[in-house]
Amino acid sequence: MAIYCLSRDRINSMLNKEAIRRLKEIYSPGDISDQPEDLMAYGFDATGEDGTIDLVVFPTTPEQVSQTLEIANIHDFPVTARGAGTGFVGASIPLFGGVQLVMTRMNKLLHIDHDNLTALVEPGLVLGRFQEEVERLGFFYPPDPASLNSCTLGGNVAMGSGGPRAVKYGVTRDYVLGLEIVLPTGEIMNVGAETVKSVVGYDLTRLLVGSEGTLGIVTKIRLRLLPLPESTRTILIVFKTAREAVYIASQIIKNRIIPSTLEFMDHNCIMAVEKLLRTGLPIDAGALLLIETDGSTEAANNEINEIKRLCEGYELSQVRVAKDEKERAMLWEIRRSLSQAIKSISPTKINEDITVPRSKIPELIDRLSALSDRIGQPIVNFGHAGDGNIHVNIMTDKSIPARYETAKEAINDVFSICLSLGGTLSGEHGIGISKSNYIESEIGELGVLITKKIKRLFDPNNILNPGKITPLGG
Ligand SMILES: Cc1cc2nc3c(=O)[nH]c(=O)nc-3n(C[C@H](O)[C@H](O)[C@H](O)COP(=O)(O)OP(=O)(O)OC[C@H]3O[C@@H](n4cnc5c(N)ncnc54)[C@H](O)[C@@H]3O)c2cc1C
Repeated sequence: MAIYCLSRDRINSMLNKEAIRRLKEIYSPGDISDQPEDLMAYGFDATGEDGTIDLVVFPTTPEQVSQTLEIANIHDFPVTARGAGTGFVGASIPLFGGVQLVMTRMNKLLHIDHDNLTALVEPGLVLGRFQEEVERLGFFYPPDPASLNSCTLGGNVAMGSGGPRAVKYGVTRDYVLGLEIVLPTGEIMNVGAETVKSVVGYDLTRLLVGSEGTLGIVTKIRLRLLPLPESTRTILIVFKTAREAVYIASQIIKNRIIPSTLEFMDHNCIMAVEKLLRTGLPIDAGALLLIETDGSTEAANNEINEIKRLCEGYELSQVRVAKDEKERAMLWEIRRSLSQAIKSISPTKINEDITVPRSKIPELIDRLSALSDRIGQPIVNFGHAGDGNIHVNIMTDKSIPARYETAKEAINDVFSICLSLGGTLSGEHGIGISKSNYIESEIGELGVLITKKIKRLFDPNNILNPGKITPLGG
């Protein structure tokens, strides 16, 4: 039931001379470019795919963003926002040319409110820099995607990103109190409040978080902060079998221990990381859990002891407790090097971030293993066992078409296994272009219809990041 078809006479549009002239009036020469190297450098993301761009602009004020969108409406060209381009689903890849709005020069930490534990930031600020800054002042901002040293807070908001600490602390959405947004029609609007609670009208803030740059451009973000926990303890437990590891992960939650992180890596991950880092992981092991607890020193220690107690009776291949910050960093290096390490298994990975109810992880792992046997290609699993978010990587080879086609078809199986277990197609990476053809299988025809109506309400001329979230031409 299509209500919103893209008017694709605009495909591969070139900006007309008048539009370019007007854009040049808004931006200083160093903040606008049509140089081939810039058009190439800002048109791709971590999927490795790229798009077509006619012009790149680097706004430094909300007014510049607003004027750009006004011109886009008059001259009918698409505009796509980009943070650091670390997205995994092609959400920042421009499909139809037009202007790429690179937000990285709006990167200030504007204010920290010590009395109310909030921060006001610009969207281009890199997450890791923000975290360092607030931690120096004794505050804590938990959302921690593994890309934290490059991804931007604006990208995090647009994608609703999360990370290992989501199990205890939630995701970006849980920390956004309010936003300054430039609507696709150019108006500047504020949503949300400075207060920690507010129920005035529809919750537009929550709608905009995770909208993948399709409903508005984020130009300011008000974030909730927490006090920095007194103490953090880190333990790595290596199991003989994957089944035992995921069973213990579900037992930890069932026993009402909520660690700050509860990460899972399967046998293939252990082999790949050991090959890369040589940290002494047993390569015949079935899986490992990397767990962190935090809070008061006593509480963090008690939870680690409780987790050890749950493992009693299992023949463990290795247990490492970090004694200091250096050892903790080393244990995290095992987890953080994974994306790079698993490339040694096969040249191409198809990475999905499905999420199932935590108690269903053992069944998920068994069914993925059967799928891997059936397609004759490795499926490597790791991720945030604590919140059921498992990164399923079908390891394949793009240069062998038959193999690659089989791997791509297996995505359907991965998604149907996930949905049959009561899961969701994406826990944190979003939909973008990679999963837009699958969205209906989860939210239904009516869900897609409402999504398209919301998009049209915000963006009547479909100029902002067209072709994302819902299927093209649908
Ligand atoms: C190695 C690696 C590890 C990762 N680990 C995780 C992880 O653990 N958890 C996780 O959730 N993700 C992870 N990601 C994915 C990615 O880092 C996140 O989606 C991140 O939030 C994207 O931020 P970005 O600044 O790179 O945004 P981009 O990729 O540039 O853009 C993403 C989307 O945000 C929109 N956008 C950007 N800025 C704005 C703005 N100011 N206003 C409106 N829309 C905007 C874009 O249009 C696009 O739709 C990982 C990626 C990599 C490469």
